[in-house]
Amino acid sequence: MLAESDKVFRNLHGQADWQLAGAQSRGVWQNTAALLAQGREEIISKVKDSGLRGRGGAGFPTGLKWSFMPKEEGEFPHYLVINADESEPGSCKDREILRNDPHLLLEGCLIAGFAMGAHKAYIYIRGEYWLPLQRLEEAIAEARTAGLLGDNAAGSGFAFDIEVTRGAGAYICGEETALLESMEGKKGMPRLKPPFPAGVGLWGCPTTVNNVETIAVVPTILRRGSDWWSNLGRPKNTGTKIYSISGAVETPCNVEEELGIPLRDLIEQHAGGVIGGWDELQAVVPGGSSMPLLPKHICDDLLMDFDTLASHQSGLGTAAVIVMDKKTDLIEAVGRFAHFYMHESCGQCTPCREGCGWMYRIMKRFSAGQGRAEDLDLLWQVSRQVEGHTICAFGDAAAWPIQGLMRHFRPLLESRIVQAESVTKSPTGEGGAPASVEAIASASSAATPATPEAVLKD
Ligand code: SF4
Repeated sequence: MLAESDKVFRNLHGQADWQLAGAQSRGVWQNTAALLAQGREEIISKVKDSGLRGRGGAGFPTGLKWSFMPKEEGEFPHYLVINADESEPGSCKDREILRNDPHLLLEGCLIAGFAMGAHKAYIYIRGEYWLPLQRLEEAIAEARTAGLLGDNAAGSGFAFDIEVTRGAGAYICGEETALLESMEGKKGMPRLKPPFPAGVGLWGCPTTVNNVETIAVVPTILRRGSDWWSNLGRPKNTGTKIYSISGAVETPCNVEEELGIPLRDLIEQHAGGVIGGWDELQAVVPGGSSMPLLPKHICDDLLMDFDTLASHQSGLGTAAVIVMDKKTDLIEAVGRFAHFYMHESCGQCTPCREGCGWMYRIMKRFSAGQGRAEDLDLLWQVSRQVEGHTICAFGDAAAWPIQGLMRHFRPLLESRIVQAESVTKSPTGEGGAPASVEAIASASSAATPATPEAVLKD
């Protein structure tokens, strides 16, 4: 278990004062000017050395991302944008930072802004996060009054300020370029890349977009040293992480732990265990709804970090762990994810706009026990044609839950094929004895693929 002394988020559950005095008593805003006095290059170098990877889902190395910004401030100002549009189903970690320890984020903004030559940061917050928004704005006002923001931020001689912008509830605005479009007052639609935001970002200016948790851990890394951070977790998966645990557990919670903690320990030590015991576990979505679910036999020994989960064809994502026990109807659950993605697609590229609808409609048929034998192949093909063929990663996010279900729970889908009985008799030829899963699968593979026209009539 992570030692109390190694926790970055010491007021994660709002057990103490969230305001400036409380934050300062926990070490926030202490000697900030001395941290900045190290200089831009040194700060970026230390963040690189720590091995910090972005906590918003992609796990991209933070120091490297910062180094993409122009070294000198030119004609256009530089901007830091904080992605606080936390909308991934299952994820609720940034909300807790924003409402229970907002000064951690604000101090991180100053340091990150300084390191990238940005005198202004914008925090783009999910519109529904009303209490976090209020506290964030109050914390910014406190910081301005105390001279921690302003022309001489924290006595560093560096001018820096922060503004908050509210989103209006679209999931896709969590994608960094859609977020920038939204901030510019346009529809939240992802941009084609390149150019990347570090070259052409907010209002055409060099911009870096970082997640709330990523920036909130930076001051502590600089205070305690890159080695301290890199000794936590596992190689290339360093430091601590806030996990959001929900679903069929006794005590759903947010908890800060080391990266690489065994999933079973995470659930049993912090969330009271799976309801009814570990053997009741059916599957886990390890990183928010877009990450492919994994069956119990993989979960038994699973380490919760970026690389281990990727090796199992899933991902850490936002580390939102959704636990599903044997009572959970996985087809219904993944079908609901499919409905969510269909609804949230921005619609500007065809594979996503059309494919999400196809996947949802097929899942709906399986959910109702009305699946067709050819739907198995069709569902897989559609998911593969969406994955990797779109402007942004939303297409992957929509396809992966379906692929996870098909990879690990195909027999469940086969059991929802409406003609299952007739399909099973043919391959076995044994007077109606239940056919094997393989037999059903091969029958479905042999079925004539549905034409697009047929599907469009659905
Ligand atoms: Fe929009 Fe989907 Fe294309 Fe992303 S993948 S740009 S959400 S249509």
